[in-house]
Amino acid sequence: MQFSIAVVGGDGIGPEVISWAVRVLEVIGKKKGHTFNFIPLKAGGCAIDETGEPLPAETLEKAKACEALLLGAVGGPKWETLPGYLRPERALLGLRAGLGVFANLRPAALLPQLKNACPLKDEVLTASNPHGSATFDLLIVRELTGGIYFGERGRKQNGDNESAFDTEYYSRNEIERVLRIGYTAAAQRRKKLCVVDKANVLESSRLWRETAAAIAKEYPNIETSYLYVDNCAMQLIRSPGQFDVIVTSNLFGDILSDEASVLAGSIGMLASASIGSPDDALAKNGRPFGIYEPIHGSAPDIANQDIANPLAAILSAAMMLRYSLGMEQEACLIEKAVTSVLDKGLRTKDIASRESNIHNEKIVGTKVMGEAVLTELK
Ligand code: NAD
Repeated sequence: MQFSIAVVGGDGIGPEVISWAVRVLEVIGKKKGHTFNFIPLKAGGCAIDETGEPLPAETLEKAKACEALLLGAVGGPKWETLPGYLRPERALLGLRAGLGVFANLRPAALLPQLKNACPLKDEVLTASNPHGSATFDLLIVRELTGGIYFGERGRKQNGDNESAFDTEYYSRNEIERVLRIGYTAAAQRRKKLCVVDKANVLESSRLWRETAAAIAKEYPNIETSYLYVDNCAMQLIRSPGQFDVIVTSNLFGDILSDEASVLAGSIGMLASASIGSPDDALAKNGRPFGIYEPIHGSAPDIANQDIANPLAAILSAAMMLRYSLGMEQEACLIEKAVTSVLDKGLRTKDIASRESNIHNEKIVGTKVMGEAVLTELK
């Protein structure tokens, strides 16, 4: 079968890591008889340089015609002094809203191979894990097109005292649809779902709790729990193994998933899927349109130095196959190839052990790591 995949490399390490995701898809396609037509598109800083705007209309239009969008990362110091509406990050918000992807799925698991890259002590990991192993495996489902990132904002001048405001705004429908994605995921996992909010203070969080309490009744086989976000931030460090699926708002999910990424060894390992509804206008063949991207940014500090870890981008391609193309087997092949290269001791610098005396580890660059995954797949 033929599939059109929009590709936005973006800025910094984005194009480097996404090129390996594309190569991995080419190899899988050849092996399994699928043709992926990659449509290169511009967004972010490079689009500002070329067209004067972070998200050219052409990018959004062409992406809509595809099955999915693979995204590297956008932004960097070069564009940091531009006014807010012209910043590269506006492209991300524009893509998410324009492509209707309202649920961001961020798996964070500690692979046994990367145990030494996790900053938590073994006994902390073990104590919190129901199976007593020093690991964890959780999924953060972050609402992506609502809340404070999209609410009304502004500045006011009161004499010589300037003030600024951003508004956290949620409707019951927005909360309900992302909760349903969370419950669907929990049903395929360990059947636990934790709603994270700040309902002791925020009215919008109280609406989250009320909505969750009503929806939870429809999923009697899933154990629903609630945590305030400050407690959740602490519990993630004290006992990450207690969590299965966490569903939360845009802002809280942004912060908690970065915290979880450190526990998983490195931000360079974590993939994400941002999906819409399987029955909206952009869905193809009954599957949701999705934006698939590593959770890290453009890392300008390491761009073009052959240091960046390409595995988060490669694992994002696997998520794309699973969610938007319905290719579970192919997705698993990519994930297996990644664990195989880790089994062989290959490590980019960010996932090397914290202790220096681990003998079976070999520190490699982006290219060697990418090639190793391709070799496993061939
Ligand atoms: P960042 O994720 O780019 O980098 C944080 C740290 O992690 C850096 O030390 C970096 O070297 C390291 N790192 C990130 N990805 C890595 C990888 N694949 N391999 C090895 N190390 C990796 O976050 P930042 O420094 O806060 O932001 C840099 C730029 O990226 C900013 O302009 C920011 O706005 C942008 N950003 C974009 C996105 C996105 O496009 N989705 C997300 C976050 C930040």
